[in-house]
Amino acid sequence: MRLIDLAGREIPVILRRHDRARRISLRIDGRRDAAVLTLPPRAAEREAVAFLMQHRDWVLAQLDALPPRIAFADGAVVPLLGRERRIRHDPTSRGRGGVFLDGPDERELVVAGESAHLPRRVTDFMKREARAAIKPLARDKAAALGVRMGRIVLRDQRSRWGSCTASGDLNFSWRLIYCPPEILDYVVAHEVAHLRHMDHSPAFWATVAEIAPSPKQSRAWLREHGARLHRIG
Ligand SMILES: [Zn+2]
Repeated sequence: MRLIDLAGREIPVILRRHDRARRISLRIDGRRDAAVLTLPPRAAEREAVAFLMQHRDWVLAQLDALPPRIAFADGAVVPLLGRERRIRHDPTSRGRGGVFLDGPDERELVVAGESAHLPRRVTDFMKREARAAIKPLARDKAAALGVRMGRIVLRDQRSRWGSCTASGDLNFSWRLIYCPPEILDYVVAHEVAHLRHMDHSPAFWATVAEIAPSPKQSRAWLREHGARLHRIG
């Protein structure tokens, strides 16, 4: 990562060489607020930087259009299963693993301990909640279809919300915990349906429809809001 001046703004730029790249390409990494330049093996770096300069208006517009970043900190409001919760740091609080929902309607996420550990503790909490929400859903849906399911693995993938391996393991992004329940339900249904059909054929979508209430709306929601979920925490 390096900083490159674009029209008076210092922009983080990541240069990557890729064996199979045929030309220089440019994209935005919304997690790192950076421009990513991909270079074919023999392209010169100055060519790539010139390419970046040519597209600088596009880069700046894309960076400005990114959803706001929400850091885990006292007072921050974060979604949990689609409902907003306010993080409250309470160093003296005890019990329930040091992170727990509290207050009227469970609108507060109380975090005990030192503030330096708050972001990690909240992240761990989100991962635990994601596992607790996904596991029974996947088990029930696999039972409904009569398919055998392997392990459930939580990841933090940028490009996919879930995936399914040939051996029947299901991978999910723990960030799904920020989604409304019906969206989480759809993603789980999608991966469980892959245990029957390892493709996206009409038969696959018919299977998804058997175990998810509204696949179409859920996919639209993820397209619209997905980028925002990567900017939380
Ligand atoms: Zn799929």
